[in-house]
Amino acid sequence: MLFIFFILILPTTVFLILLYNAREKKDDTENPTETIEVCAICQNDFPLNQLVEKEIGPYGKIYCFCGNCIKELQEEYNSIMSISSGE
Ligand SMILES: [Zn+2]
Repeated sequence: MLFIFFILILPTTVFLILLYNAREKKDDTENPTETIEVCAICQNDFPLNQLVEKEIGPYGKIYCFCGNCIKELQEEYNSIMSISSGE
C-alpha cells in the first residue's frame, strides 16, 4: 500500500515542481523589466534605462538618444565652439 502511495506521489511532486519552475520562467519573459527603444540618431535598439528621453518640437514628440550619440553631439559642439572662438 505504501509502495503504491509513493508511485503516485513522486511523479506528482516532480510534475508540480516542473510546473512551478516553468511558470516562473514564463513570468520572467512576460514581464521584461527592460523596454527596448530606438535611438533617434543612430537607429539602434537600446534598453530604455540606457537612453535619454526628450520632448522635442511643438507637439512634444518624445525622442530617445543613446549615450554614444550624446557623446558625439557633445564632441561636435565642442569642436564648433573651438572653431568659432578662433583658436
Ligand atoms: Zn544613438
